[in-house]
Amino acid sequence: MNRVFNFSAGPSMLPLEILQQAAAEMTDYHGCGMSVMEMSHRSQEFKEIIETAESDLRDLMNIPENYKVLFLQGGGTLQFSMVPLNLLRDTKKADYIVTGQWAKKAAKEAEKFGDIRIAATSEPDVYTYIPKLEREDFRPDADYVYITTNNTIYGSRYNYIPDTGDIILAADQSSNFLSQVYDVKDFGLIFAGAQKNVGPAGVTIVIVRDDLIGHCPADAPVYLDYKIHADKGSMYNTPPCYSIYMAGLMFQWIKKQGGVPAIQKHNEEQAARLYDFIDNSSLYRCPVAEEDRSLMNVVFVTGDADLDKRFVAEAKTQGLVNLGGHRTVGGMRASIYNAMPDEGIDKLIGFMKKFETDNK
Ligand SMILES: *Cc1c(COP(=O)(O)O)cnc(C)c1O
Repeated sequence: MNRVFNFSAGPSMLPLEILQQAAAEMTDYHGCGMSVMEMSHRSQEFKEIIETAESDLRDLMNIPENYKVLFLQGGGTLQFSMVPLNLLRDTKKADYIVTGQWAKKAAKEAEKFGDIRIAATSEPDVYTYIPKLEREDFRPDADYVYITTNNTIYGSRYNYIPDTGDIILAADQSSNFLSQVYDVKDFGLIFAGAQKNVGPAGVTIVIVRDDLIGHCPADAPVYLDYKIHADKGSMYNTPPCYSIYMAGLMFQWIKKQGGVPAIQKHNEEQAARLYDFIDNSSLYRCPVAEEDRSLMNVVFVTGDADLDKRFVAEAKTQGLVNLGGHRTVGGMRASIYNAMPDEGIDKLIGFMKKFETDNK
C-alpha cells in the first residue's frame, strides 16, 4: 500500500482505519449478506446506521433537543438556496457577511428570495481578514444573519461569534465542521457538506432549531422544505445512504480521539506548527491576518508564481499531494482537516525546509 498525504481542500483525506473498516464491511455488512450500498434505506440495518450517526453527532456537538439534525443531498450549494427559502420567514430581510467566494455565492443566491444586504465584505482586501461586526451593524428586523465560519479558499476563519442579539445566526460550517468546539445554541442553523471533515461527498448535514422549520413557501420544490425532511427523519426520499454510513464511522472515530475538544487541540497544534514555520521562513508568507487564520486551510505563497508551481509539482513527487491553491488564487494551500496525521505535517514542513534551502 502506498498512501500519500493528501492536502486536498475537498473531498479530502479520511483516516486509514475508517477506510479499512469500510473495506472489511463492504461486501457483507454485519452478517446481513450485503453491502450498505445495496441495502434498502427502509431496512432495520440502515435504520440503525442513520440513528446511530445522528445520536453520535448529537453527543459530539451537544446538540440540544429542540434542534433537528437532517441528512440531505445537494451539498453546501443547495443550502445557499434552502437557507433563504426557509429562514426568510417574516420581513424577508437577511444580512450577509461576505468573507470569501462561498459566502459571496450564498448571498447572490439568497438575493433571488428576499432583501439581502451585505453587512460587510473583505473582498477589496482579497478576503485576507474577517470583519469584526457588532449588534448595531445588523438590521434589527432581519430574519437572519449569515456567516461562513471557515473560508476554505482564502484560509481564514472567524475567531469570534458575531453578537446578533435576538436575530437568528445561520452558519456555513462546511470546511470546519467538528474541527473545533461550537455552542450550537449560538446558531439557529448550521450546515456542512461532509466531504471536507466528515466523510465522502454526498451528504450535507443541517442542524436547525425547530421553530425555524415550517416557513418554506408552499410553491417551493418539495425537496427544499426542511419540514418535509424533519418530519420524515431524513427519509422523505432515498437519502445518501453510503455517505451517511461513512459519516457515522467518522463520528465514532472522532469520539475515539476524545471528542471535539481533543480534536480542536490537535488541530490547533498542527496549524500552529505550520504557521510558525511559515512566519519564521524567509521564502514563504501567509497573506491572512494573524488572528483570523484558519485551522483547516493553511494558505501560503513564495511571491513568485513560477516558484509556487514548482513547489506544488515537487511536493507531489514526495507523496505530498494537492498542495496547489484554489484555481482562482494560486499559491499554495495545505488543507489539514481532522484526518490529517501528524506525520503529514512533519513531512510537509521537512519538504518546505528543503525547498527553501534549494531555492535560496
Ligand atoms: C466546499 C464548500 C461549499 C460548497 O460545497 P458543495 O458541497 O460543493 O456544494 C460551501 N461552503 C464552503 C465553506 C465550502 O468549503
